[in-house]
Amino acid sequence: MQKIDMHTHLLPERMPDFAEKFGYGDFIHLVHHKPGFARMMKGGVFFREISSNCWDPEVRIGEYLHFKTPVQVVCTVPVMFSYWAKPADCLALSMFLNDHLGGIVEDFPEHYIALGTIPMQDTDLAIKELERLKQLGFPGIQIGSNVNRHNLSEPQFFPIYEACEQLDLAVFVHPWEMMGEADMRKYWLPWLVGMPAETSRAICSLIFGGVMERFPKLRFCFAHAGGSFIPTIGRIQHGYDCRPDLVAVDNPVPPRHYLGKFWVDSATHDPQLLRYILEVMGDERVCLGTDYPFPLGDLEIGSFIEQMDLPKVTLDRIFYKNTLEWLYGTS
Ligand SMILES: [Zn+2]
Repeated sequence: MQKIDMHTHLLPERMPDFAEKFGYGDFIHLVHHKPGFARMMKGGVFFREISSNCWDPEVRIGEYLHFKTPVQVVCTVPVMFSYWAKPADCLALSMFLNDHLGGIVEDFPEHYIALGTIPMQDTDLAIKELERLKQLGFPGIQIGSNVNRHNLSEPQFFPIYEACEQLDLAVFVHPWEMMGEADMRKYWLPWLVGMPAETSRAICSLIFGGVMERFPKLRFCFAHAGGSFIPTIGRIQHGYDCRPDLVAVDNPVPPRHYLGKFWVDSATHDPQLLRYILEVMGDERVCLGTDYPFPLGDLEIGSFIEQMDLPKVTLDRIFYKNTLEWLYGTS
């Protein structure tokens, strides 16, 4: 059985000290404190411990072999987006990360596909990097669920979407800088509550802001099975029906119309929910995606899906065909 994991993160093992290079800011840097392990530091603050499967392409290929999954779609870790930085510096950081991922693909073309990152806070520089990514052969990009607290419906982002559509680049939307984070630091709530809400915020913004209507050929995929969007679609549709004066101000098309028009990954940890998502999105819009190598990820790379008694044709769709269609427009 062929399998592609379309939601994984990979970092360079060594990175310049960007804070020192640029002279400001809490840019992420790595402290390799013991063999095979590193601490991601955000400025002087510990962010997350990672191990070699976050940077070593060969270690990862070995781990994936165990789950009979030869291909990984890699993108950077969202905390690297750095949209808060000066645009030229964010561009330089993005180019560094993109060149690194491009190198991994070049070294292991049978195992890796890469998504780029762009400086979303500066439309012109973002488009410049999109054009470069296209030339380098990237099939798509990853963007955050908000850009310095601005929603993805802001008109300043429209030229970026237009460029992605014209360049035929797929867009993966990943939650980050979660709303309400400062109010819920305990119990890992930013990850458990904030992330699903962030993703729904992104999807609702792209629908109600008319982005999906304006750029119908743009292929969006959303992390973590679309977060809380699909489980709360009844409420969202009802809101549109009962208060169109609040909801339908920029796009008259009802939200349910867009079900099946974008892709989501399979990272639910819940076969019942995945069945529901397959029902409402259609089995052509759900892609195997795990969030490897992080602990909240589906680290058995879709084993729970194999145990769901789905028809082979559906499994083939989830495990690789849908990802190819999302990335390249055709499987
Ligand atoms: Zn992720």
